[in-house]
Amino acid sequence: MNLLIKGGKIIDPSQGLDEIADLRIENGVITQIGHAISEDNLEIFDATGLIVSPGFIDLHVHLREPGEEYKETIASGSAAAVAGGFTSICAMPNTKPVNDNASITRYIIDKAREANLANVYPVGAITRGSKGEELAEMAEMKTAGAVAVTDDGKPVMNSQVMRHAMEYARDLDLVVADHCQDTCLSACGVMHEGKYSTQLGLKGMSGAAEDSHVARDIMLAEITGARVHIMHISTAKAIRMVRDAKQKGLPVTCEVTPHHLALTDSAVVGFDTNTKMNPPLRTESDREALIEAIIDGTIDAIATDHAPHHLDEKMLEYDHAPFGVIGVETALGVVLQVLYHSGKVPLRRIIEMLTIGAARVFSLPKGTLKVGSQADITLIDPEREWKIEPAKFKSKSRNTPFANWEVKGKVHATWVSGRQVFQTD
Ligand SMILES: [Zn+2]
Repeated sequence: MNLLIKGGKIIDPSQGLDEIADLRIENGVITQIGHAISEDNLEIFDATGLIVSPGFIDLHVHLREPGEEYKETIASGSAAAVAGGFTSICAMPNTKPVNDNASITRYIIDKAREANLANVYPVGAITRGSKGEELAEMAEMKTAGAVAVTDDGKPVMNSQVMRHAMEYARDLDLVVADHCQDTCLSACGVMHEGKYSTQLGLKGMSGAAEDSHVARDIMLAEITGARVHIMHISTAKAIRMVRDAKQKGLPVTCEVTPHHLALTDSAVVGFDTNTKMNPPLRTESDREALIEAIIDGTIDAIATDHAPHHLDEKMLEYDHAPFGVIGVETALGVVLQVLYHSGKVPLRRIIEMLTIGAARVFSLPKGTLKVGSQADITLIDPEREWKIEPAKFKSKSRNTPFANWEVKGKVHATWVSGRQVFQTD
């Protein structure tokens, strides 16, 4: 199918584009960007009033398959992703079994191919079974298609194991992505340790649990030369450390979630278990530090940490409910509402973090509309007002803290390799 996306405002930070122009797609590839492109033999898509962006990339998605298909499958998660404008998603390895070997990596790739919606990039485990003891088969997983390694959800506590993992990953040119949390310090905490945890009588997790692990990982990045990615960064101190590390030229990157940008620990008042995630919602000064770090370029990517859970699992007392919220279908609306419509962050910077900024972290060949690239495209209606209604999600799960939020900014349509995979109502 050959297509002309006509009259939209193309914002592509990978090539400094921010102008109204037409985009021609032939055989799944972008072949021309320009003005008054001939319409001969092309299907026309009128994008007047819309933003044409490279397809979004989510570095942090839990697809739950294999093992917990009642929460999400690769197919349902991919459908949710493209509805949220994400044409490429990185699948976390904490499935059942854990993606710690090439056969699981291949299984995920095969299932994603069957689903035929988003590009799915598996992320392999750092250690076998994510137990933090022996290194996983990183080389074989890389050959099978893994783009990075992480033990997300189960921080690698043994620093010597982490050092070896970084040395091994460095030689393979794989990024080590880390869920930074000293689990001895965070112990059985269920929310951020502070004023609200005291008021609510809930066990807190100190910000120091994250900060100390971020400090350790930066030091290990320095001695090993490995590329280290700090996942879902959430504290002001951790941000300061990443900023300093970048200034020193260390190969350290970081991502932030929409929920840490939009909410604070005050949201836990009322005990809605959809405010329970890990790392927890932090304080207002942490949230402000995250936004500051977006403005000054410290943060590389916005990643959702999409973590589906069944309704019955979240309908427990706060102490017992699992950590995690879904996010791919609400990310754009929430982020535009909180960052762009508040006047804090320009649209092109937000698009940068959702596209080329994320692509660079794991060296993905995505996040650009350059001529010759696969036509992964997200059309954004920045002014469209809509209400977040979980019943309408494509995801199998409903665990969002943003139910019934009225937001401004919506994905209008999505293409993957030139094939339209989503259109808004
Ligand atoms: Zn995590």
